[in-house]
Amino acid sequence: MEIVILVVVIAVVALAAISGLVVSGRKKKAARPEQPESATETTTAPPAEPHVGEDAEGRPEGERRTIEEVGLPDAEAPAAEAEAPAAPAEPEVETPEPSAGRLVRLRARLSRSQNSLGKGLLTLLSREHLDEDTWEEIEDTLLAADVGVAPTQELVERLRERVKVLGTRTPDELRALLREELLTLVGPDLDRTVHTETRGAVDRPGVVLVVGVNGTGKTTTTGKLARVLVADGKSVVLGAADTFRAAAADQLQTWGERVGARTVRGPEAGDPASVAFDAVKQGTEAGAEVVLIDTAGRLHTKTGLMDELGKVKRVVEKQGPVDEVLLVLDATTGQNGLVQARVFAEVVDITGIVLTKLDGTAKGGIVVAVQRELGVPVKLVGLGEGADDLAPFEPQAFVEALIDG
Ligand code: GDP
Repeated sequence: MEIVILVVVIAVVALAAISGLVVSGRKKKAARPEQPESATETTTAPPAEPHVGEDAEGRPEGERRTIEEVGLPDAEAPAAEAEAPAAPAEPEVETPEPSAGRLVRLRARLSRSQNSLGKGLLTLLSREHLDEDTWEEIEDTLLAADVGVAPTQELVERLRERVKVLGTRTPDELRALLREELLTLVGPDLDRTVHTETRGAVDRPGVVLVVGVNGTGKTTTTGKLARVLVADGKSVVLGAADTFRAAAADQLQTWGERVGARTVRGPEAGDPASVAFDAVKQGTEAGAEVVLIDTAGRLHTKTGLMDELGKVKRVVEKQGPVDEVLLVLDATTGQNGLVQARVFAEVVDITGIVLTKLDGTAKGGIVVAVQRELGVPVKLVGLGEGADDLAPFEPQAFVEALIDG
């Protein structure tokens, strides 16, 4: 009897334990879908197009880069992640990275896109017999990389002379020789300072006009440049004078807000010149150090462009001279970019070139070609869609990337 009672008790306890497990398992199952589903909604649904501050995969800027890319000390990264608030009420003002040395940091990206030029040239120069066909191939390689006809011929001539003098050619000698000659071609001594300081003792901000065809990355570059300047400790006001592209002013304002820079904007399809004028006026009143003006770049007719840009510049100059006119060119457009450059140079005095999307082309030779075309140095290069992917152009680092890519 006792045994029977014991068996019954054990059976009851076992049944209770099993049903408890099943119930709690159900509870867990029931609870589980809610959490991941809501996380998926907010973090993984990619937008149709990348927005400002997001990369191509739609991740927010802060989450996108590796520590090495961002250049943060190791210790800072986990802390930043751990402290990230779940839903900040106001977008926090960011602290952009310093601009010095960015080209070196972005060199891996640059050399990835450039390796066909440097590697190709070195391979050809290492051939045992440098006959006419090989020199022609060297010439073709340079032309294919958009170096331009005249600079290509100059370089080939110099290389021919120097290789002859060299006699035997070790890989190291060839590398050094090519580095030297490419550097000469790029122009190591050109003044590549972006002039953001007011010339003379005028009591107003430095004024930078950013011009270029729509789609080249003009607004993005203006936003990135604002970050560079803020990182360098300057106070910046932005002028959204691209009043023709509906989203341009919003886009610029978002860039500005991220670094605490005010954006002056006008009514949609309003007069770009009056927005530009107001931006300088408000910048002066606010005691800002630099005013960056994003302009419209509709190449519908040359006369239209000339009227519009010419007017913007004239109106701004009522308050003092413009200190820098940056022409934004898309490096992937090759010869088309050169044609655009020519048109803009006829309309305004370009003082510097920003070459965007250099991360997406193996045709780095455009740096040389466009400088020759306009007689104006490349001052900044865009190497990606990230907020801090705009770097001061450094000839040495650029040539290293061409050769070691
Ligand atoms: P805008 O019409 O000239 O003002 O052009 P936007 O500034 O709107 O830029 C057009 C597109 O080019 C955007 O998707 C940018 O993110 C992208 N872009 C700009 N600069 C770069 C760059 O250096 N590299 C890459 N890969 N994309 C860029």
